[in-house]
Amino acid sequence: MSKTIERPEVAKDGAAKRAVVIGAGFGGIALAIRLQAAGIETVLLERRDKPGGRAYVYEDAGYTFDAGPTVITDPTALEELFAAAGRTMADYVELLPVSPFYRLCWEDGRFFDYVNDQAELDRQILEFDPADVEGYRRFLAYSKEVFREGYEKLGTVPFLSFRDMVRAGPQLARLQAWKSVYSKVSDFIQEEHLRQTFSFHSLLVGGNPFATSSIYALIHALERKWGVWFPRGGTGALVSGLVRLFTDIGGRIELSAEVSEIEMSEGRACGVRLKDGRRFGADMVASNADVVHTYGNLMSGSARGEQQSKRLKKKRFSMSLFVIYFGLKTHRPDIQHHTVCFGARYRELISEIFNGKDLPGDFSLYLHNPCVTDPSLAPDGAGAFYVLSPVPHLGNADIDWEKDGPLYRDRILDYLEARYIPGLRADLATCRIFTPADFKSELNAHLGSAFSLDPVLTQSAWFRPHNRDDKIANLYFVGAGTHPGAGVPGVVGSAKATAGLMITETAR
Ligand SMILES: Cc1cc2nc3c(=O)[nH]c(=O)nc-3n(C[C@H](O)[C@H](O)[C@H](O)COP(=O)(O)OP(=O)(O)OC[C@H]3O[C@@H](n4cnc5c(N)ncnc54)[C@H](O)[C@@H]3O)c2cc1C
Repeated sequence: MSKTIERPEVAKDGAAKRAVVIGAGFGGIALAIRLQAAGIETVLLERRDKPGGRAYVYEDAGYTFDAGPTVITDPTALEELFAAAGRTMADYVELLPVSPFYRLCWEDGRFFDYVNDQAELDRQILEFDPADVEGYRRFLAYSKEVFREGYEKLGTVPFLSFRDMVRAGPQLARLQAWKSVYSKVSDFIQEEHLRQTFSFHSLLVGGNPFATSSIYALIHALERKWGVWFPRGGTGALVSGLVRLFTDIGGRIELSAEVSEIEMSEGRACGVRLKDGRRFGADMVASNADVVHTYGNLMSGSARGEQQSKRLKKKRFSMSLFVIYFGLKTHRPDIQHHTVCFGARYRELISEIFNGKDLPGDFSLYLHNPCVTDPSLAPDGAGAFYVLSPVPHLGNADIDWEKDGPLYRDRILDYLEARYIPGLRADLATCRIFTPADFKSELNAHLGSAFSLDPVLTQSAWFRPHNRDDKIANLYFVGAGTHPGAGVPGVVGSAKATAGLMITETAR
């Protein structure tokens, strides 16, 4: 873990600057910490009753359910955040290692334990196809190279001008970034189960493995380098730790504080107004809320807001998710912490999820069983689970989720009971669902997308909404909709990029 820690400069004109950050997702919290640590008086405003955004927490009948992120990678980015505030992560949250990283299961009964042990990986790859042992090594070397170029060098750099993109061009060309993740994996690996094993990762950040740039193959190297982790107490404990860090260094967070307008004066943002009428003045405003919501709703009175929301609505948005949070009366230690349950179709199913006009008849699932790592998330001897199914967003498939959600839930639970969790129904203690319609209403997500803009090459880096608005010099963005994109390491990286711009601005 060897990243340089930069202590940002404090505003130079003596007067403390004030910033407002709209939205307490991982990106908003990380940005607020960096600003406050740099001496900028920062207020974090969140419309829901708890922080975390997609990493919200449900507590039902003694069970604790992390709503979203469960695969925590790149712990160094989190440690760096604590260090930026002069603190140590271990004093706030404990990260527990997860092994295997994932178990990947197919309907033909085969499975692959994706572990961080080369000999064990080789042994399993050999069973699928001896030729792919060598192919995997070449894939890993490729993945490491993309990781260095795409993550270490460019992951926290704001792409504000096209020149930045041109500068990165030769490396992107050399790494064949125009190819998809699946196509690049297939250059090295020939067996279909293994191709799925090493290409599904982009789905974790909302990218279609058949369309997303091969740059996303870097996730494999990132996981091999730093491992897969889970916070003791769940991802919610990591959110709480970060919020506590923010308030410990003097930051202020307001929950149930929905911003209804970014106020403008002479072409600059001068503060925000809340739905309940309260106003917060600021020298700079950053939004962690959905980018279309920010321009379209919070700036609806301005020409810039209207123009940008119209432009962004033409972009491609990533898929949505259907999630079931369920508590079982018994613990199931035979189910790994992270299990991917591939359905019979891979390419065709993914195409229907990203481009189809209806709910596909089959599904591939991700099953979360955190109690194997931390039993405290359920009552004694019980198990807290979630299962998610990627589904089309509301712009592609206009599904009535209030009516169809419970039916879809039953189909998924039946499937799990038949193949993975015998006796599931009889063992059920609690169950709730979250649908694309909830992403829209609870999180203000455009089209109910779970990951904001689709991370294809033509919507990445300079082509993604910029970390600072091109026209309004003191309006900033952070989170999944801006560079580098979705996923916890992505949005924490975006916070570093955005904070760098904001702190430099105050230091002028
Ligand atoms: C089910 C699921 C599982 C996932 N699993 C993983 C995983 O295992 N690993 C991983 O790395 N990533 C995972 N992701 C992706 C990751 O969770 C997200 O990309 C990331 O958390 C998004 O963070 P963000 O900073 O963009 O903010 P968000 O989490 O989107 O938060 C934005 C916040 O803004 C608030 N807001 C919106 N409008 C307003 C307003 N007008 N006023 C005030 N507040 C407002 C919202 O309420 C919300 O709290 C998962 C996502 C989902 C949905």
